[in-house]
Amino acid sequence: MPELPEVQTVVTELNKKLKGRKIKRVAVFAAKLVSLGPNTVSNIRDVTQKTVDQFCKLLTGRKIVSVSRRGKMLIFNVDGPLTMLAHLKMTGQFIFEDKILAKKTGSQYRLLNKPTAPLVKLPSKHTHVVFYFTDGSTLYFNDIRKFGYLRVVLDKEMGDVKEFREYGPEPLEKSFTFEVFAEALKKRKAIPIKLALMDTKVVVGIGNIYSDEILYHAHVRPDRRVDSLKPKELKAVFGQIKPVLQTGIKYKGSSVGDFVRTDGKWGSMGKHHFVYGRKKQACLGCGTMIVSMKLGGRTSSFCPREQV
Ligand SMILES: [Zn+2]
Repeated sequence: MPELPEVQTVVTELNKKLKGRKIKRVAVFAAKLVSLGPNTVSNIRDVTQKTVDQFCKLLTGRKIVSVSRRGKMLIFNVDGPLTMLAHLKMTGQFIFEDKILAKKTGSQYRLLNKPTAPLVKLPSKHTHVVFYFTDGSTLYFNDIRKFGYLRVVLDKEMGDVKEFREYGPEPLEKSFTFEVFAEALKKRKAIPIKLALMDTKVVVGIGNIYSDEILYHAHVRPDRRVDSLKPKELKAVFGQIKPVLQTGIKYKGSSVGDFVRTDGKWGSMGKHHFVYGRKKQACLGCGTMIVSMKLGGRTSSFCPREQV
């Protein structure tokens, strides 16, 4: 599942590639992925053709002003009083082809992160929404599991967006201080620190990969209860949040799931994991064998020697 570094990679690339492009046409192949309004989560509802038509109509003719994010939600700021929100959830992917690539029949992508995955052309059977721009370029939204969603909201409704009202602080903002972090943890005293890090109300954008990596570098075991951490340990955890996420952004995300960048290439953070996905391999820090445990239904990997 994409986490903050993966989403930021997509945002940075799309912002550069889409800025100023005008939407000529929108095609929706899976109705349940699109919706309208601040409170709806599309893929649990019945979506009528009317909603789909309106979704397409509202976006047609709009120019992309910028692409940004809040938490893991992508925000497409278009001209006029609308905004399109997009969430990649488990396996959502945005792939952009410029005019030349879009015309070429030979552009193929490996949408699954396995060397054995087939090379496919777009749109593929996993492409559910396509944006055609007036200059001949194209943006594809693929989603194998179909948990992702696209939503159009009015700018004036942005404050009412359900997810935004629930999101905690942004970890890379200056305003995310140790005091803010410690305060948010006060309501999460009795749970393992890993699960607290993955709670969007405590801090947004951290999932299974980066929580494992943060805790490795902080030398704290993932199953330690929040209220068992000494101030020094809590500070160590906090101190690793920004650098670990920034490393993830530097390497354009981790393609251990089915995450791909907007040109279909993989991020290389996966080669720089210390513990995540390294069960039974030697710890890069001390050589001890990495072990794993289940926490809240998720697998957590850690070094039993360095993390206490
Ligand atoms: Zn170690």
